[in-house]
Amino acid sequence: MKVIKTAEEFKQIRKSLENKSVGFVPTMGGLHNGHLSLIQKAIKENDVSVVSVYLNPTQFNDKKDLETYPANFDDDCALLEKAGVDYLFAPTYPVMYPDDYKYMLTEKDFSKELCGAKRPGHFDGVLTVVMKLLNIVRPTNAYFGEKDYQQFKLLEGMVQAFFMDVKLIPCPIVREENGLAISSRNRKLSPAGLAMAPKFHEILAAGGSEAEITKALENAGFKVDYVTIKDNRIYAAVFLEEVRLIDNLER
Ligand code: AMP
Repeated sequence: MKVIKTAEEFKQIRKSLENKSVGFVPTMGGLHNGHLSLIQKAIKENDVSVVSVYLNPTQFNDKKDLETYPANFDDDCALLEKAGVDYLFAPTYPVMYPDDYKYMLTEKDFSKELCGAKRPGHFDGVLTVVMKLLNIVRPTNAYFGEKDYQQFKLLEGMVQAFFMDVKLIPCPIVREENGLAISSRNRKLSPAGLAMAPKFHEILAAGGSEAEITKALENAGFKVDYVTIKDNRIYAAVFLEEVRLIDNLER
């Protein structure tokens, strides 16, 4: 696996891959089996695989959340190497933001709902960084998890709006056996928190109205950020031990 740190270097390499299909998985590190499922699909479906590891500060509205994000670059490298990834793109802030975030991409509608309503600026940061990464990597196919369903929908809209030559591939949520959606942030939970966390998915899966689901989550000990049913999907975010967990389910 080649580790590339600058946009120029990657763009140079990309020229040599001109007639190959390139599969790309953007991540923020702290890699786990959820990421791995996207990575394996990218490897299988393309001639060349590229993964990025970049903890993007512009999508964090909460500084503490960013500072405590559980990622370990050496562990990530080992996992990617073992999976058989061809290129790891691991840029720094000056590489990704030569403009110091003077330019940003904003969606004015759906990005203001759900997680966007609770995390001001979050999706501006996500759309901007993914646009930048797609411009550098120029993948044939880019893989995103349905765990971040709202994010996937917004990225799909971005690709259409800006006539971008990339196919976005949605990938199913990977869960622990107990139903908990795997997330880097799960590592921030105590053993007691980890024992309680699966109740989040269990309660969403049991269904009901927004108010009923909210009540059930509160009774189970979660602090509810939001529960919204929209287009036949339940979206929810809760806090457990100050860790923010999200999940969504088709109804
Ligand atoms: P992140 O590192 O959290 O930005 O995630 C990178 C990509 O992996 C995003 O497209 C996520 O939706 C996806 N992802 C993270 N966790 C899971 C999971 N449990 N199942 C499926 N995809 C996931």
